Amino acid sequence: MIPRLMGVALCHSLLFLMAVRIIQSAWPPGIFWPLLSLAVVLGYMSADFASGLVHWFFDEICGEATPLLGGVARPFREHHKDPEDILKHDFLYTNGGACLALAPILLVVYLLGGPAKEDLLSIWCHTLFFSFALGLAWTNQFHKWAHCSCPPRIVGFLQALGVILSKSHHDHHHQAPFSRAYCITAGWCNPVLDKFQLLARLRCAIKGD
Ligand SMILES: [Zn+2]
Ligand SMILES: [Zn+2]
Repeated sequence: MIPRLMGVALCHSLLFLMAVRIIQSAWPPGIFWPLLSLAVVLGYMSADFASGLVHWFFDEICGEATPLLGGVARPFREHHKDPEDILKHDFLYTNGGACLALAPILLVVYLLGGPAKEDLLSIWCHTLFFSFALGLAWTNQFHKWAHCSCPPRIVGFLQALGVILSKSHHDHHHQAPFSRAYCITAGWCNPVLDKFQLLARLRCAIKGD
């Protein structure tokens, strides 16, 4: 429990410090606010795509018997045996693992320095990365809420807006053929991935079946 607590604390402290740096460098955004908004959307969409790729990898490619990664695959497999069990997990259990994985990356990026004032490209890249990391840090929580039939009101509002993963969208993943809707941050990338069966093709290329 202590490592998860440290991971959540460090991850969110670094995200907060990065946000402060970006705001200090970008403020006032003036005519650049549409570009910065685009960076936020693209970063968040990248997190959604990454969540789908990781989720698919541990559902379809890496099994519990796989050396080194088997322990990571186990919760993914167990989630399919008992999808509602996720609702029993507290905040630290739900989010600690992702935060522990993200914290070293965030620390390196933070130590490399923030964006320079009025350097639009640097500010844009930092904003994109911040949005990406924030989306990933909260993905497991969004996934948990998507299993909740009565989420907090603000969560239900964000789900209805499509900002975070909704129950109706995620239900597709837990219905036959159990091979779609892998993205679990917001689910934005699922329509394209599923329509063109991109992950099924990738599985074919890797496993040959
Ligand atoms: Zn799954
Ligand atoms: Zn689920």
